[in-house]
Amino acid sequence: MRQFLSLGLALTLAWIVSSAAREPSAERWYKGNTHTHTLWSDGNGAPELVADWYASRDYNFLVLSDHNLLSEGEKWFPIGAGRLTPEKVDQLKREFGDDWVKERTVDQKREMRLKTLSELQRKFGRPGEFTFIQGEEITDDFKGRPVHVNGVNLQKVIRPRKGATLRETLQNNIDAVMEQSRKFKKPMLAHVNHPNFQWGITPEDLASISGEQFFEVYNGHSGVRNQGDETHPSMELMWDIALCSRLRDLDLPVLYGLATDDSHEYFQFGLGKTNPGRGWVMVKARELSPDAIVKAMRRGDFYSSSGVSLLDIKHKMNSHLSVTIDAEEGLTYTTQFIGTRVDGDDLGQIGEVLFETTENPARYEFTGDELYVRAKVISPTDHPNPYAAGDKQCAWVQPVTRPLF
Ligand SMILES: [Zn+2]
Ligand SMILES: [Zn+2]
Repeated sequence: MRQFLSLGLALTLAWIVSSAAREPSAERWYKGNTHTHTLWSDGNGAPELVADWYASRDYNFLVLSDHNLLSEGEKWFPIGAGRLTPEKVDQLKREFGDDWVKERTVDQKREMRLKTLSELQRKFGRPGEFTFIQGEEITDDFKGRPVHVNGVNLQKVIRPRKGATLRETLQNNIDAVMEQSRKFKKPMLAHVNHPNFQWGITPEDLASISGEQFFEVYNGHSGVRNQGDETHPSMELMWDIALCSRLRDLDLPVLYGLATDDSHEYFQFGLGKTNPGRGWVMVKARELSPDAIVKAMRRGDFYSSSGVSLLDIKHKMNSHLSVTIDAEEGLTYTTQFIGTRVDGDDLGQIGEVLFETTENPARYEFTGDELYVRAKVISPTDHPNPYAAGDKQCAWVQPVTRPLF
């Protein structure tokens, strides 16, 4: 009898375990930054210091996107008066242990070996909680105008492709990522970085990209001019101009906007410093893996944030777009539904606030003449470490279109 019972119990347990394994895991939001620099290129933090900054906060994934390289192979960095001082090496030893830090002396000069992505993944990766996604900032230019494209979930380094025009340069680098994705049969994405950096990329250039649909609507680097100036559109207006052109004239899909840090500086924090923690994406996926995150982003299942969290985004075709804010107690958030109307062949005002509300959930009912609608949620609170003075914390919801278009 006892044997029978324990067999029965074992079978029951086996059934519970196997049905738990079969149960599809629920979708949840994962927080990540896809644009980060370390000592591998021009950041001032050792890779483990940067990794630790993100992994010890509420981030779930991180792309270390150094310029034109992957964090792999053996690289020795000089210890001295530059970006890696003896004091900073001592700090790493205190933080991670003497054994962790690898040093050598060549010609009486001290050097430290930079940790590779696989070493960082072993140290900081936690299943379901934190992972790295391999990537690179493909750093190209056309006649001095910067053309920077992040490749996310890359398997091999991509050298800048160059081109005969700025648009060709941009497209060639995007194509390189898409070619690698096909070759390795792995989901990858390419995002166009900081278009207003040195006024490199115009709205028309941005609108023209094909085979890919991501760009940075917010980049935390202090030199990238997210807000434009008297003669250049802000990143948000650029988004609207590009959306109009793509949807109405070019027969191309919507562009998705990312918020990223583009962090370089990890020791001094404040205005004018290119710090971590300014902008990120929240991705709705069933599991935390590089492939699952990239696939979800490719579906548009993400929003971008500089401080506002959302609980839910609902879109019903031809009916409504609604956004539920994870509101902090006592705060009233403003949600703007931004879009462009069409009347026959004519465009209305580009990037018009079609409707604004302080309700939560915020809900927009389609009237039928919108080319696209996107939402921006604005918190009444200032960003704690703003890109520019006076910046409020925001969330950007991806644009949706009507099936007619
Ligand atoms: Zn860049
Ligand atoms: Zn960068």
